[in-house]
This record gives sequence, structure tokens and C-alpha cells, in this order.
Amino acid sequence: MNAPIPSGAVREPLRGGGPGAGQHTVRRHNLALVLREVAGPEPVSRAAVAARTGLTRGTVSSLVEELIAAGLVTELAAARGTTGRPASPLRLDPTGPAGLGVEIGVDAVGACVVDLTGAVRAQRVVHSHHRDDVPATGLATAEALAAEVVAEAGLAIAGAAVALPGVVGADGVLVRAPNLPRWVDVAVGDELGNRLGLAVQAGNEADLAALAELWSGGPPNAVHVSGGIGVGAGIVLGGRLFRGAGGRAGEIGHVVVAPDGPPCSCGGRGCLETAAGLEALLRASGTPDLESLVTASPPDVLAAAGRALGVALAGAVNLLDVPAVVLGGIYPRCGAVLLDAVRAELAARVVSRPAVDVRFSALGPDAALRGAATAVVHELLADPAIHTAAARA
Ligand SMILES: [Zn+2]
Repeated sequence: MNAPIPSGAVREPLRGGGPGAGQHTVRRHNLALVLREVAGPEPVSRAAVAARTGLTRGTVSSLVEELIAAGLVTELAAARGTTGRPASPLRLDPTGPAGLGVEIGVDAVGACVVDLTGAVRAQRVVHSHHRDDVPATGLATAEALAAEVVAEAGLAIAGAAVALPGVVGADGVLVRAPNLPRWVDVAVGDELGNRLGLAVQAGNEADLAALAELWSGGPPNAVHVSGGIGVGAGIVLGGRLFRGAGGRAGEIGHVVVAPDGPPCSCGGRGCLETAAGLEALLRASGTPDLESLVTASPPDVLAAAGRALGVALAGAVNLLDVPAVVLGGIYPRCGAVLLDAVRAELAARVVSRPAVDVRFSALGPDAALRGAATAVVHELLADPAIHTAAARA
């Protein structure tokens, strides 16, 4: 079994040793430095890694051997036709340790395995209704689904992360989720970890979807909105997730867009979720589910939702000075009417910038699930020493 990443909330990857770092820390830092070069889009030789990092050839070779032994890096066949000793290009090992992602939503559970190169190796999503059920039911479904994708992928699992539709504390506890009234102060990370025999980190689904967008080439400064039964946002500033003082930033679904509007699951009134959440759209359109809503595409309903999103997002853009807004979750299914309404509202209300790039996410509804699995891989790539030490032991 591989070394698990400690339990807790999903974290930003570590960034090497600080000032006064000892020899052990220097090696740890250099391992990460070498792995970052190998993780680029093209295979690289040891010589190229040495040239790019400023490390000696001998140091690079020793670090590469350690990374190969831990299953993180693999050597391709030597290039022919070169003079002297042929260079064997290096790349991340797609058969190496992988990340397990789990998502427990209001009415679905998903699990996926992402390998070191970022490729999805197995993924499954099933309907599972948790609104009125005790957490144990949802956790059991998640456990079973996770076991299925792990078996299907056939890779060693380095760690896991679970995406949740609510406020997640730094200790991996789901503090509350307005649409899951029975899930209050549930240690989802630990509970799932015990069931799976792995360390499981927990994160907010909108945050993980925003990271997935960023990691797939999305804008480094953006508000990423995930639409579903709840509406959440992940705020990315300077290429990093902005979490707020307590890790709870991004509750855009409970930003008020109509002070005297309908009651909301949070106890307030007129929140964005009551105007642009999935259930509000179904109610307003008289359709039973997302597929029927997409088929009917009632322009008045979708335009109203887009205007409400635009009002809330204009506030966010004026406050944060972000140049881009990415609409994910169910919103890409809602089409141009919704998108145009968001754009018009932002154009009319944003005073902090001349223009805002508003686009649909290309990742689809599984962005948070992918983000959860990829977060594990990113943490491993950013600090491979945890893994190589375990491989040596
Ligand atoms: Zn609310």
C-alpha cells in the first residue's frame, strides 16, 4: 500500500523547502523540482532536467532513480541516431500511484480514478438521494462506488479526496450543507477514510470544480460558478484558490439578488439559488428534471436565471476585479439565452473593469469529481518525498 496523504481539507500543494532548510528538506525540494520538469507536456532527458533546474547531472540521476523506484517516473526507450550515450527520455508513469476522487452530491454519488498524467482511468456516477437520508446511506454508496472504480483502474491509490455540497472545515468535517439537512458536522473525510482504508481529504464541490477548470487550462483569475440544486462558486486569484479566512468563501448561491424574494434553503430570502438553482428553474418552467428543462429551453425562465446570476456576479466582479467568469455544472446545458443574459447584466453593472470574459465550462457536470481526484495527484507531484520515502521503507 502506498503512503496516504494525511486526512483533512484539500490543500494547495506544498512548494518546496523554506529558508534554513536542512539537507533532507533540500532533497525533498529538489525531488519536487525534478518531478515538475518531468511532468511537462513532452518527455525530457536527464540532461535537459539538469539544464533547466541548475542541478548537477549526478544529483538529477540520483533523484530520478528515486522517482522511478517509487513508480512516479518511467523511462522511455532511448532515442536512436544520437551520438554518444543515448538519452532515455523520462515522463510521468501512467501505471504509478493514482488519485481517487469521490463526490457526494444532493442526489448523486460519483467516484473516479485519475492517474499521474491526469488521465481519467475509471469513473462512475449514480443517482442517490441524500436530502432526507442519514449520512450513513450516502457514505455506504460512496464506499461501494469507490471500490468499483479502484478495482476497474487497477492502480495503487495514493490518496483520496471527496467533494461535498456545503461548508467544509479545515479538518475535513462537513459543517453544514443547506440541501442536506441531516448532514451536520459530519466527519466525511474520516468516515470515508475508515471505510476505504485510505486517508481522505474533503473539499467543497465548487472549489474543486474551480481547481479542475484551472488545471485544465482555465483562466488564473476567475469566479467559477457551479450550478446544480445548490449554486456555489470557487474563486481563483493569481492561479490559486481563494478560500477566505475560514475556507468558506464562494457561497454565491446565498448572495441575495431579491431581498423580498422566495425563502431559501439557508433560511434567508431571495438568494441566488432561489432564482438560478436547478429546483427554481424546474419550478418556474414546470419541467420535472434537467433533461426536460434542456429540451423545453423556456427562454423567459433561462433569461431570468441569467439576469439573477449576472446581478450576483457583477457584485463579485466589482468586489474582486476578476476578468473572467466561468459557468459550470448545469449552466452549459442551458445555452445561449442564459449566457447572453449573464453577459448583458455584467456589461450593465460592472464598473471595476472595462470587460468581463463570461464563458461556459468545458468540463461538464463531473468537474468537481475530476477536481477531487486531480487534487490528490497534484499534491503528490508537488511533494513526492512523502511517497518516495514510503516506497523506500
Ligand atoms: Zn440562501
